[in-house]
Amino acid sequence: MNSYEDIYKYTEKVLELIAKPVINQKEVEWVKKETINGFREYVNPGFLEYRKSVTLGDLEASAVEWSDSGPNGFRDVNGKEYIDCLGGFGIYNVGHRHPKVLKAVTDQLNRQALHSQDLLDPLRAMLMRILADITPGELKYSFLTNSGTESVEAAIKLARAYNRTKPTIIAATKAFHGKSLGSLAGTAKGVFRRPFMPMLSGFRHVPFDDLDMLYKTMQSCQMVGEDVGAVLLEPIQGEGGVNVPSDGYLPGVRELCDEFGALLILDEVQTGMGRTGKMFCCEHYGVVPDVMCLAKAFGGGIMPAGATIATEKVFSVLFENPFLHTTTFGGNPLACAAAIAAINVLIEEKLPERATIMGEYMLTGLRKAAEGHENLLPDVRGKGLLMALEFVDNNIGFEVAKHMFDNGVLVTGTLINAQVIRVEPPLTITEKEADRVFEVLSYALDKVSVG
Ligand SMILES: *Cc1c(COP(=O)(O)O)cnc(C)c1O
Repeated sequence: MNSYEDIYKYTEKVLELIAKPVINQKEVEWVKKETINGFREYVNPGFLEYRKSVTLGDLEASAVEWSDSGPNGFRDVNGKEYIDCLGGFGIYNVGHRHPKVLKAVTDQLNRQALHSQDLLDPLRAMLMRILADITPGELKYSFLTNSGTESVEAAIKLARAYNRTKPTIIAATKAFHGKSLGSLAGTAKGVFRRPFMPMLSGFRHVPFDDLDMLYKTMQSCQMVGEDVGAVLLEPIQGEGGVNVPSDGYLPGVRELCDEFGALLILDEVQTGMGRTGKMFCCEHYGVVPDVMCLAKAFGGGIMPAGATIATEKVFSVLFENPFLHTTTFGGNPLACAAAIAAINVLIEEKLPERATIMGEYMLTGLRKAAEGHENLLPDVRGKGLLMALEFVDNNIGFEVAKHMFDNGVLVTGTLINAQVIRVEPPLTITEKEADRVFEVLSYALDKVSVG
């Protein structure tokens, strides 16, 4: 423990740094030292090991980021630019620091940042009206959150309260729904779950894209008196490796849910807000869920924000006591301003359509770059700008990602595994930037194939 005087001086120094549009070489060195030491001593040294494993150079050379470089990229503290093909796992759908989102948040910040918590805050009402209009079917009432996992928590609680006599919730293997204890029960990866057993009770997992298995499981649950109250799915599994289901799967799941009186919860945290070529991925399949979860790109790449939207019938379990499920910061005025601006931009710039067009352009380009290297990279797939490169093994994926990063393109693995690498750029990525990505992939594959 240092004296308050020393702590105060340190905070002053950091505040000055934040205020500077440009920093000099001496400051760059200080930022690198403080960041790497800080991660080792106070954040978690495991992150340094991870960064070392995904970069060719030393940590000082490329591990510390500093600023955006434009809508589709960022800069490290040394000034090197990167094309962002990770897109923050899907938070930058409208690009980095879109001027319209930035303006909405700044304007709101200049008036009021957080609300009284007791009176009625106007932007919440306006955003929810927009959400009811933009989402398909009868989805109408929303609960606003700060993150994806919170959106899933709210959905699980809604399902529990609505289907009191049906305790089972079915999720899919390879699913990712977040890491707080409730949503983790839906998440499927053993590595993330094992240390925290027992999970929330009542969860079962069935293979994704297997209707017959889902039917048999729902039937068995009914026979033993543990009826299925909800089925929780991503329309396309993102984290699990960009798994696109067959066309009949989601409509079939909808039918089974109706037959068994189970709610269909679609987790569109990653697939929503235009990512796959429609505003919401379920629109590709003509399927409307009873509950939909949003987050990631919902905050326009500027604010953390999420939402859980349900039909009036389902949401009405919270009418009598609106305090049954609450959050202090969820739906704060800054987040609402950001989400409203994000939807405005998605419509104005026709970004869902752009995701379809650029998605086709990129799938073609990536496949071409992979030509002749099928022994390393046998599959390139995706829908819209949610794409994946599947390598023969984890090692090859890691090596290719390293070389791409070294050449200014950020991509990353899925589920801490690099056999499947995701390509998920801002929907605003240009053809020129995409061409550069193809070039870099092709270069990286050449490098890795000669060893
Ligand atoms: C990222 C993700 C989540 C969790 O979101 P957080 O904001 O990280 O809690 C949940 N579901 C899906 C489909 C996701 O991709």
